Amino acid sequence: MARIVMKFGGTSVADLERIRHVAARVKREVDSGNEVAVVVSAMAGTTNRLVGWCTQLAPLHDAREYDAVVATGEQVTAGLLAIALQALGVAARSWLGWQIPLATDDAHGKARIQSIEGAELIRRMQSGQVPVVAGFQGVGPDRRVTTLGRGGSDTSAVALAAALRADRCDIYTDVDGIYTTDPRIVARARKLVKIAYEEMLELASVGAKVLQTRSVELAMKERVRVQVLSSFDDGTSLGGDLPGTLVVDEDEIVEQEIVSGIAYSRDEAKVTVRGVPDRPGVAAAIFGPLSAASINVDMIVQNVSADGTTDLTFTLNRADLPRAEQTLGEHRAGIGFAALLADREVAKISVVGVGMRSHSGVASTMFRTLADKGINIQVISTSEIKVSVLIAAEYTELAVRALHTAYGLDA
Ligand code: ADP
Ligand code: ASP
Ligand code: MG
Repeated sequence: MARIVMKFGGTSVADLERIRHVAARVKREVDSGNEVAVVVSAMAGTTNRLVGWCTQLAPLHDAREYDAVVATGEQVTAGLLAIALQALGVAARSWLGWQIPLATDDAHGKARIQSIEGAELIRRMQSGQVPVVAGFQGVGPDRRVTTLGRGGSDTSAVALAAALRADRCDIYTDVDGIYTTDPRIVARARKLVKIAYEEMLELASVGAKVLQTRSVELAMKERVRVQVLSSFDDGTSLGGDLPGTLVVDEDEIVEQEIVSGIAYSRDEAKVTVRGVPDRPGVAAAIFGPLSAASINVDMIVQNVSADGTTDLTFTLNRADLPRAEQTLGEHRAGIGFAALLADREVAKISVVGVGMRSHSGVASTMFRTLADKGINIQVISTSEIKVSVLIAAEYTELAVRALHTAYGLDA
């Protein structure tokens, strides 16, 4: 007997037929003697619609009310899956964040989990009931609903697995594992049997949406065994479940590639602050207020100054752009810039691999490959196991495909 957390993403619960299918999948796990807790996302498209409504009413809406709106999607699926399970004769009960409670900090819209009260859920599981937990949501110190950032149900699932001391956290999605790149963009992407926490963490943080970054961070810290697999396979072929991808320690991977994956992010925006005085304290004057407004800045470049002034370019999440423009506008006098330019038509492409620690030439291969395709690089940033470039959004797919081939990753 094992204790398992099963998480189902948006496409896996997209309609009633899919929810019935998920219920049957959960029942199989229960019937084989396991204790099961389930975490669900909102039905595919629901969260985008809810976010859109908030933005249409006010681009700079109140984050507490945003959470009140967008958390509703998961409430619906938790209730529906509990009904579907009961209809199959499986005892089940839905749980919202505040009912558990799953406590978070007060960073509405991107809250971090602080604690999960697991004892009652464990008692219920031991008595044969399946808790169906609404992912993505928690309750803040002010007792208001919070959400964990887009894709946050993955983090709900991993955190719950840690709190319940589960043997496994199975993330069911619409692809059958983690690939060398998004299989929806590169048909020749290869499925990985295993991937190191560090690599998955880096891939997620640069845009590979298959797992939310924080879920990987948490899995690594809490030693949760995470497996990504498809909810669309019926699991009856090959004498059981079709294997997905396991996220494991680096030393469990026998043959390590130099580059293990390529990711892209279309959620970027580029801001150029023109004509700032080139003197100590200017970067602090720009990035201090942005950080105070909870806006994360990613890549940064500063040009050489010609006439005592310089241009500073940085990237950020596109959703944060209105707030960033507002914040910098308010601090214009203190910073003393001449103009503010924003570009939404950019994408970030990243190559990731722990092998980069010991091999050189990864970055130059990237630059050469993009040059050969005539793709201009706007900003570059690197870490120990990653190289990222910012390019025009229209070249995203071309760049990812070309790089996938260049690093010998094609299946
Ligand atoms: P869910 O709703 O189940 O959470 P997501 O859309 O959040 O699903 O994540 C799954 C998607 O992640 C896949 O459909 C795929 O397009 C995308 N993806 C991006 N990079 C990768 C990768 N390296 N391997 C697998 N899937 C990836
Ligand atoms: N429904 C939320 C989102 O779309 C959370 C999730 O799917 O993980 O971001
Ligand atoms: Mg997801």
